[in-house]
Amino acid sequence: MSAILWAWAIPTAKAAIIADGHGLRATVYNGGVSTTKACGTVIYHQLALNVPLDTLFTYAHPHRLPEGTRVAVPFRGKTVAALVWAADVAAEIDSAKIRPIAQVFDHEPPLDADWRALLQFAARYYHYPLGQAVFAALPQGLREARPVAPPPVAQSFVLSATGLAQAAPKAHHRKQLALWQALQQGALSLSAAKALHTQAPSLFKQWQEQGWLNAIASPAHGAVPPSPHVLNEEQQAASQAVQAACGGFAPFLLHGITGSGKTEVYFDIMAKVLAAGQRVLFLLPEINLTPQLLARVQQRFPHTRTAVLHSQAAAGARTQDYLRAQSGQAALVVGTRLAVFTPLRQLGLVVVDEEHDSSFKQDSDLRYQARDLAVWRAQQAACPIVLGSATPSLESWHKARHGDYRLLSLSQRAHHAAALPQIVLADVRRQKLDNGFSAQALALLQQNHAQGGMSMVYLNRRGFAPALFCGDCGHTFGCPHCSAKMVLHQQARQLRCHHCDFRQPIPRICPDCGNQDLTAVGHGTQRVEETLRQALPGAAVVRVDRDSTARKQDWAQLYERIDAGAVDVLVGTQMLAKGHDFARLNLVLVLNADGSLYSADFRAPERLFAELMQVAGRAGRADAPGRVLVQTQLPDHAVFQALKAQDYPRFADAELAARQSLGLPPFAFVAAIRADAPSMSEAVAFLSLIIDEQANGFRLPETVSQFGPVPMLMARLAGRERAQVFLESTRRRDLHHGIGLWRQLLRHFETTHRTIRWSIDVDPTDI
Ligand code: ADP
Ligand code: ZN
Repeated sequence: MSAILWAWAIPTAKAAIIADGHGLRATVYNGGVSTTKACGTVIYHQLALNVPLDTLFTYAHPHRLPEGTRVAVPFRGKTVAALVWAADVAAEIDSAKIRPIAQVFDHEPPLDADWRALLQFAARYYHYPLGQAVFAALPQGLREARPVAPPPVAQSFVLSATGLAQAAPKAHHRKQLALWQALQQGALSLSAAKALHTQAPSLFKQWQEQGWLNAIASPAHGAVPPSPHVLNEEQQAASQAVQAACGGFAPFLLHGITGSGKTEVYFDIMAKVLAAGQRVLFLLPEINLTPQLLARVQQRFPHTRTAVLHSQAAAGARTQDYLRAQSGQAALVVGTRLAVFTPLRQLGLVVVDEEHDSSFKQDSDLRYQARDLAVWRAQQAACPIVLGSATPSLESWHKARHGDYRLLSLSQRAHHAAALPQIVLADVRRQKLDNGFSAQALALLQQNHAQGGMSMVYLNRRGFAPALFCGDCGHTFGCPHCSAKMVLHQQARQLRCHHCDFRQPIPRICPDCGNQDLTAVGHGTQRVEETLRQALPGAAVVRVDRDSTARKQDWAQLYERIDAGAVDVLVGTQMLAKGHDFARLNLVLVLNADGSLYSADFRAPERLFAELMQVAGRAGRADAPGRVLVQTQLPDHAVFQALKAQDYPRFADAELAARQSLGLPPFAFVAAIRADAPSMSEAVAFLSLIIDEQANGFRLPETVSQFGPVPMLMARLAGRERAQVFLESTRRRDLHHGIGLWRQLLRHFETTHRTIRWSIDVDPTDI
C-alpha cells in the first residue's frame, strides 16, 4: 500500500511525497529522471559498475528498484552509470558507509532477466568482471550517467470507422486513389504512403483532422512479399527441418557451398518465425555487413522493422537501435558480434551466417565468441539456431559429426546456370615469377580480359606483405615496438607496422652497412597492381584494401562501378573473399597461397582452406562459368588437394583426425593466461611466479595440463612484450576450475606488480 500525500507539478517538473511500507519519501521527477530523498527507511541494492573489480557495489535507495534498472551513483569522486543487479539485499558493509543512488533512469525499461542471465553467464565463462562485462555489452549511450531519450515511436495510419464509410476519391486523382485503396488493406506507414503519393503527409494530416484516419504505433512486423525464388529440394528440406523444430532449442549446422542459397534458406525460416510474432537475431561477420546484404534484407522484409547493430554505426544510432530492439519495436536484429548482446523478447530464431568467421571472436576486454554465446541464447530462449557456412569451423563440424548439431547440407549451386568453378593448381616450384605472377597466370588474365571477362587477383595476406631490405647485408626493417616486420607503403613513402600502426618515412640508407640502394621485396597489392597495368594495358584495375575502403561509402561506390561493368580486374586481400556477389567475375587468381602453411598456428590450414574456398566461390556466380588458378609450391599438400576437389568434408575430417592425434581443440579445451610488461623477462617472471606459487597449496585439477610461459607468436605489441601460459583439459569443468585458481593468484600478485597487465582468453583463437 502506498499513498501519495502531496503532489505538485509545473510544466517541467513534478514532485510528490509518498508514504508506503518503507517509510516516507520525497521524489522529484524531471525530464525522465527521478531524484528521491529518503525521509524514512532505505532499501539496499547491489549494482554492477564499469570497474575492473569482481564485486558488485551496495547503494541505498528509499524504495525497491526493479532489477536491470539503470541508475547513476557517486563513485570515487565521480558520478557513474550503474545497473541494478539485485534489490532488497542485506547491507554487507557498515550501513553508515552506504551511499544513496543519485539518479534513477526510470523512463528506460529495465534490462530483463534473460539479458542479465546472459551477461552473468558470459562473465563467468570468460572469467571477466561482471560489471565490466555488462558495460561492454551496452551501447555507448547507455554506459553514461545520463538518461537517454527513448526512440521515437514510428507511426502508421489506419482508416477510422468514419473514414471507412467515406466514398473513395475520384478516379482521376490517381495517386490519391491509390493511397486510399492501400489504406483499405490495412495500416500504412508514412514512408510507404509517401512512396505512393508524395503529398501523403499533408493529405494524411487533412484526413486526420476530418476524423477519417487514426495514427497508431507501427507494428514491428508486416507482410512479407513472396520470395523471388522457388526453393529447390535441398533448400526446402533445410528450411522445413528448422521450422519443424521451432518452439524448442535446436542447433543446426547448415553446410552449403558458396552460392547454394543459404541466405534464401535463412530468409524462408525468418519469414515464418516473424509471421508468428517472434523476433529474429541475425549475426554476420564484420566484413559481410555490406550494403548489398542489408539491401537484400530490406528488399525481402520491407515491412519488418529492423535494427542494425555493428561497431561502425554511429554511437547515437546504435543506442537507438538497441532500445528499439529491447522495447520490441524492431522485430529483426541484424548485426556483427556485439549484436549477440541485444536484449530481445520473444526470440524465435537465431542465425549466424559464415559461422566460421574469425570476427565473431572478440580479442580484447571481454574476449567472447559470439557464435558460442548465440547458441547459449538460443538454448535460453528455447528456439532453433542455424549456423551457416560453406566451410564450417572445425568446432561446429565436430559437433555436427557427433550429433550435437543437426547437419543440413546444400550441395549444389542454387542459380541453375551457375556451375561450380573449376579449380586448377599451378605448380610454380621451378618457375621464374614476374612480381609473383607465373607466365601462365598472366596469359590467363590477358585472355580473359580480351574476351570481356572480369578477373580477381587474390593475395593471401600471410607472407605477402611488401617489405624493404638491404641487398648488401640482408638487413630487414622490424617495427621497434612489435616483433612484426614493417610493411612498405610505396605511395605514402612510409614503412608501417600492421600490428601497432607505427609509421616512419622510408629510410634512404641501410642503418647497418650504409648501403644506399635498398630493395623492395614481396608483392604487395601496389606492386601487383603495377605489374597488371603493364601486362593489361587498357584494363581497369582496381585495388581493394583497408585504405581504399576505409569509409562507408567506399564500398557502395565500388559496387556501383562493378555493377556498371567499369572494373576489369580487382586486386585485393581477404576483404574480397567474403560475401560479395559479382555477376561478371569469372576468373580468380590466387598468388602465394603457401605462406600460412608454414605458420606455427595450428589453425592456419583451416583458415587458408576457408579463405580459398570462399574466394573460389566468388567466381562464376551467375551465368559465366568460373575458373580459379591457385599458384603454389606445395601442390601435393592435403589442403590444396581437398581444395582442388572442392571437398570440405574431406578436408575437415582429415584435419580433425590430425587435431585428435595431437590433442588439439576441439578435442581439448584450452585457455590462455597472458601477461604483458615492458620487457619479456618481466612478463615471463610474473607468470612463473604464479606457477611456483601453485606448488604451495593451490592444485590444478588432475586433467589440466599447463604449458609455458612462452612468448606469444606476436611477442611485441605496441611497445609491450607478451608471454602466455596455456591451460588444457579434456574436461571443460576442470579447465574452468583451473582458470579460477589462476585468477585468484593473478589478482593477488597484481597488487605488487604494477607494470604487469594480464588477461584470460578462454577458447583462444590467436596463439
Ligand atoms: P549463399 O548464401 O549460399 O552463398 P545465396 O543465398 O546468396 O547463396 O544464393 C546465391 C544466388 O542464388 C543468389 O543470387 C540467389 O538469389 C540465388 N538463389 C538462391 N536460391 C535460389 C533458388 N531456389 N532458385 C534460383 N536462384 C536462387
Ligand atoms: Zn609495431
